[in-house]
Amino acid sequence: MDIRVGDIVKMKKQHPCGSSEWEILRVGMDFRMRCVGCGHQIMIARKQAEKNIRLVVNDPERLKKQAEAKPVQE
Ligand SMILES: [Zn+2]
Repeated sequence: MDIRVGDIVKMKKQHPCGSSEWEILRVGMDFRMRCVGCGHQIMIARKQAEKNIRLVVNDPERLKKQAEAKPVQE
């Protein structure tokens, strides 16, 4: 899984605040993530994080595919 700093990821489990989106602040052996909903920060082992991530929201490859699928109309 290709995850970079600044990516927003959706986790399988919801945070108690109701948001399931997290911003990646640091990658390495552990990920530092900030809850988009409430700003709460956690450190989580990379393996654990990858297991819990449902999708990377601003994955450039995915955005590119979306852009190609929806040509701009004038
Ligand atoms: Zn939260």
